[in-house]
This record gives sequence, structure tokens and C-alpha cells, in this order.
Amino acid sequence: MLKIGITGGIGSGKSTVCRIFETLGIPVFYADTVAKEIMVTDPVLMEGISKTFGEESYTGGKLNNKHIAGIVFNNKEELAKLNALVHPAVFRAFDTWEETISADVPYTLKEAALLFESGSYRLCDKNILVTAPKEVKIQRVMERDGASRAEVEARMDKQLGDEEKIKMADFLIRNEESQPVILQVLELHRQFINLTK
Ligand code: ADP
Repeated sequence: MLKIGITGGIGSGKSTVCRIFETLGIPVFYADTVAKEIMVTDPVLMEGISKTFGEESYTGGKLNNKHIAGIVFNNKEELAKLNALVHPAVFRAFDTWEETISADVPYTLKEAALLFESGSYRLCDKNILVTAPKEVKIQRVMERDGASRAEVEARMDKQLGDEEKIKMADFLIRNEESQPVILQVLELHRQFINLTK
């Protein structure tokens, strides 16, 4: 089945765009949500985390977020170790999920904040980048999360810039007021269906 990756910086509106695809009957795999779930359900991943970051990574079967965050926050090497455990587990979860999708579905979407950074885009047939002007993204996230401008900018600074991601993307969705996003989604939907013919 055709696999389409979709990503975008924080506040670009990638989750909103995915919901529009869902209304067209396209199943969406939300990689970041699944990553959080499997950290407390996938035995292979849990064992890897415990071995790498210590038994105190779990208390009573629950992830000790404080412990893990204390290790990986602002430490690139430790974060890379965590990602090296989590990303392959998410790939496995995606394969299992895809097996449950009806053959009548023309394609699936995989939404991931770190689609390009994780290398996950290479496993997709095509990739979409959702973009919006920086100021629009900041305003959206401040409103959505009740966060301050400084908090939003700090989160944005940790992500790869759109200039880098545009080079790797096959399709762009510009989620700004001047360009109705629903029409762009419908156009891509038409193109993806054509790709399956
Ligand atoms: P992301 O998943 O990329 O971080 P979201 O899809 O959560 O972004 O969008 C961020 C916020 O902006 C949400 O509150 C969403 O409802 C809003 N939003 C997204 N796109 C639009 C749009 N085209 N017009 C108005 N609000 C939007």
C-alpha cells in the first residue's frame, strides 16, 4: 500500500491537515502518540530503555518521565540513544498497524514531527511538508498550548528549519490564510489516488 509521510514544524498545522485527510477516509498513523504508548507497552523497547538509562526508568510499569527527561534534556548524545531505541520500535508498530488497514484504502499517512530527522521519510513512498510563516506558527501554538512566546521559540529552535526540510519533501502544503488548506489537501488526495492506478 502507498505510504505517505507528513510532517511540519510545531504549529504548522500538520495535525489539522491530517484530520482533513481522515475525513476523506485516509487512515493516519500518529507516530509521536504511538511512540509515547509503546514506551510502556513494547517489551523490547522497555528493556532497551531500562538497560540504557537504568532500572529507575520505570516505576510500577509507568515511565519515569522525570528521570528520562533529566538525562536526555540538553544532552544530544543521550537523546540520540533514546531515539535509536524508540524509532525502530515505532517502525515496527507502523508495520503492525498497516496490516490492520483494509486493502480498499488507497494509501495511508504517517504523521511524525521528526519524519526527516529520524530517517523515517525514507520508508515512505512520498513525503509532505506542511509550512506556515514563523509568526503564524508562534501565534497558533501560544493560543493552543497557552505557552509564552519564549517557550514556543525555544521549542522551534530545537527543530530542523523548513529550508532544510523543503529539500527532502515531495509535496508542500502551505497552511496560511491566503491559500485554503482544504483545496490543497483535495488536490494531493487526487494525485495520490492517481499514483495507485
Ligand atoms: P501541529 O500539529 O503542526 O503542531 P496543529 O495542527 O495542532 O499544529 O495546529 C496548531 C493550532 O493552529 C491548532 O490550534 C489548530 O487548530 C490551529 N490551526 C491550524 N491550521 C489552521 C488554519 N488554517 N486556520 C486556523 N487555525 C489553524
